[in-house]
Amino acid sequence: MKYAKIALSTPINKLFTYQVPDDFQEKIAVGQRVLVPFGKKKLTGYVIELAGETDVPKLKEIEKIIDEQPVIIPSILKLSKWMSEYYLCPLGEVLASAYPSALKKPKRKQNSLPKKSDKQGGFVLTEEQSNALDSIKKDIDAEKAGIFLLFGVTGSGKTEVYVRAVQHVLEKNKQAVILVPEIGITPQIVERFKSRFNNEVAVLHSRLKPNERYLEFERILKGEVNIVIGVRSAVFAPLKNLGLIIVDEEHDSSYKQTETPKYNARDVAIMRAKLENAVCLLGSATPSLESYHKAQKGDYKILSLTERIEKRALPKVEIIDLREEFVKKGRPEIFSDVLKEAIATRLEKKEQVILFINRRGFSNFVLCRECGEVLTCRNCDVSLTFYKNKNVGKCHYCGDQKKIPELCPKCGGGSLQNFGFGTEQVETELKNYFPDAKIKRMDLESTRGRESFEDIYKAFLNQEIDILVGTQMVTKGFDFENVTLVGVISADTNLNLPDFRASERTFQLLTQVAGRAGRGEIPGEVIIQTYLPEHYAIQASREHDYKNFYAEELSFREGLNYPPFSFLTNIFIKGPNEERVKEASQKLVLSLCREKKDAKARLVILGPAEASISKIKRQYRWQIILKTNVRSFARKALVSAIERTELPKGVTIHFDIDPQGIM
Ligand code: ADP
Ligand code: ZN
Repeated sequence: MKYAKIALSTPINKLFTYQVPDDFQEKIAVGQRVLVPFGKKKLTGYVIELAGETDVPKLKEIEKIIDEQPVIIPSILKLSKWMSEYYLCPLGEVLASAYPSALKKPKRKQNSLPKKSDKQGGFVLTEEQSNALDSIKKDIDAEKAGIFLLFGVTGSGKTEVYVRAVQHVLEKNKQAVILVPEIGITPQIVERFKSRFNNEVAVLHSRLKPNERYLEFERILKGEVNIVIGVRSAVFAPLKNLGLIIVDEEHDSSYKQTETPKYNARDVAIMRAKLENAVCLLGSATPSLESYHKAQKGDYKILSLTERIEKRALPKVEIIDLREEFVKKGRPEIFSDVLKEAIATRLEKKEQVILFINRRGFSNFVLCRECGEVLTCRNCDVSLTFYKNKNVGKCHYCGDQKKIPELCPKCGGGSLQNFGFGTEQVETELKNYFPDAKIKRMDLESTRGRESFEDIYKAFLNQEIDILVGTQMVTKGFDFENVTLVGVISADTNLNLPDFRASERTFQLLTQVAGRAGRGEIPGEVIIQTYLPEHYAIQASREHDYKNFYAEELSFREGLNYPPFSFLTNIFIKGPNEERVKEASQKLVLSLCREKKDAKARLVILGPAEASISKIKRQYRWQIILKTNVRSFARKALVSAIERTELPKGVTIHFDIDPQGIM
């Protein structure tokens, strides 16, 4: 074989042909990574096909073969090809995200044997659990590629069903992947699997160092493990004999990759299961509207766990109307009296408290009281978040930060003031109210420094912390028996976003965070503070009533023809020159309108419009949204519209198929 077709991680959507040098002819194989010259650069490429002939003249040579053995197994190659078509993304970019460049042989071999703990196992399953398990087993045995939605309230024993299903798969000499959300991959779930299956488990989480990642990957590839637990990209784990793929908290937005390829690991998992005749098990207490809708239509089989283990009560949820609090006090306060008293009571009883606030930093923005100027990022159309510890304003989009000036940069006045609040301010105020309590903050900021996520997690587990204040990090997967109070400082941060998923996100978040309370023998209590107490997302989370929420939300989506009633594609047009970005957007819409005329399905084109964040990292952003009832039409229309549109210099187009939101 003299020629190789190679996928490269470039925005050009095609394979590139290279010559195979004579001394590589014996070694080269499909699925290997190679090093090739590309323009002036050297790139990592993936060998997709080998050929004896080619009609491409003047070829460059492959410089180096990186892997002796192929790393891309045939099933993953097939899956990646599907993704490349579905997400309109070059195969090389898909493969680059499946096999991160960190996949280099580490210099020194290090051994990380799992810790063992034997506290789990041996219970008798509840009737609901064993019914669920039986259905799953049946499909595993039949190799039927069934899709299940395990819909179980928080603490109902979903994880135990996962464990037993995995056990069954192993007994059938097959293998399993368990996907967990980005920050939900607590040591807890990992330990639970490790304690049952010992060394058969490989873990791929986002905090692994490159060489740790390599070693885990190598164990999988060599067939040394039969179980892989990991975040999003673990969906590509090269297991050769997959029987089951589990997606825990299937609704979680961290399954969606925010960079190209913007895939949703849940949807990729379903496709992988189909391609390999494996069973796919989606689990959630708050399924995404899409998944529950599919279950209702009969596309997925639904398995319900309606009660908590040992019939423990779901926590009592109290809603605090912040409008009344404001009138009573005459000024806004972070903590209502009810919440303060509840915290005090728990501290006295030596029980633990989780407080959730969906914003990092000390305050949202810094504004000049004299001229109204808001401090904004110099690269982005975003206000700076104030961090009091370091006295800086930080941009959450590009990471840029600057010292907060004494005087307003616009009018020179001395009345700069910060507004709104985030985790840092909640922590500070809490320390004023409860000077003797041990308080810790858990957010992106606090877990990056000297203390890691694991350190804080362990300290909380060992009851060395009384109150844990945190962002989404504290909402998922935590199973601490001694937590009896959960406070939501402000439930409205998400509800006010101009996004069709705002209510769904809010309901999910509130239900998840509430689910952290009362998991042990002492009943739990949840206090939710809000300015919108009558909103159905908040009302439904008080009643733990998914079905009511679902019904309301579904009719809202139907009215506006949003998913699951339509499919969306979000198109961003970006560039450093605002005029050109605008011009390109208008051209693209014209081309799309021409395509629309020929389309046999419904195709709605919204825009072009300036994106709601009109500039990020010095790139201006415009936006077009496509809505359709048949995905393939939108895809075809988009591909040919882009081919026909000549773009001004410096302008690029990016798409997001099945976006999480429209912002
Ligand atoms: P979920 O994943 O639905 O939140 P878990 O699987 O974590 O629920 O179960 C909640 C708790 O109940 C865990 O501590 C688990 O060990 C325990 N548990 C699960 N199933 C049973 C059972 N059948 N009998 C007794 N305890 C159980
Ligand atoms: Zn910025």
